[in-house]
Amino acid sequence: MSGHTDMVLVDENGIRIDGRRVDEKRPIKIEAGVLKNASGSCYLEIGKNKVLCAVYGPRECRPRHLQDPTKAVIQVKYNMEAYSVTDRKRPGTDRRSVEISKLIAEALECVVQTELYPRASIDVYIEILQANAGTRCAGLTAASVALADAGIPMRDIVPAIACGKADGNVLLDLNKEEDNYGQADVPIAIVPSTDEIVLLQMDGNMTREELDHGLDMAIAAAHEVYEIQRDALKRRYASISKKEGESDE
Ligand code: UDP
Repeated sequence: MSGHTDMVLVDENGIRIDGRRVDEKRPIKIEAGVLKNASGSCYLEIGKNKVLCAVYGPRECRPRHLQDPTKAVIQVKYNMEAYSVTDRKRPGTDRRSVEISKLIAEALECVVQTELYPRASIDVYIEILQANAGTRCAGLTAASVALADAGIPMRDIVPAIACGKADGNVLLDLNKEEDNYGQADVPIAIVPSTDEIVLLQMDGNMTREELDHGLDMAIAAAHEVYEIQRDALKRRYASISKKEGESDE
């Protein structure tokens, strides 16, 4: 955020460097149930971001001192692969990945019925295979689908998307150049059935009016992401039912 570039991020017609309008999100592809050994899984692409998520559990919480006698703990590990970006990214955990893991876990705790599984752990692994800004939103969106695929009871699934500002324009779903050289990046996640906000961060500066406008765009777009998540789960259940039907014959 707030690096300098001579690049025109939004032209005089309101078109961005990847050809999108200011209120347009990147194309999204979601597939549930892509990993056999996990309890639930999801592969997601949004623009050039590629994310794989695996969920294990509920299972006995390890290390034991993290157990909660009243509910399951959600342990999230967000990891950006060393090869996911063009510059070299040092492999392993860093402050950024610890922060992102924590805020994704907190967002998921708002919807997962953890009280049903005291002392258990629900382990969520998010691997960023290719990054182009918006990976925390992509990771959380994928994690919700993977949890549902694992059959873990949830009040709702969580879609996430960012709004922000670049070249003085309020934008939906920033790409890497807009994130790096723009004026603000505001990732948001909601519970669609209530419009409750379960993740909201702000890096950079926007006026109150710009923020309100950006949030309106992001919330509307999050509802569209939700439909794509639901479609992925419907396809997954249809394929499971088909396989079960075939094995009964
Ligand atoms: N990025 C990078 N190296 C890093 C961290 C981030 O190249 O060590 C890039 C990557 O494309 C990422 C983007 O910068 O998606 C924006 O990162 P940010 O921390 O804003 O998180 P994100 O938008 O991915 O949730």
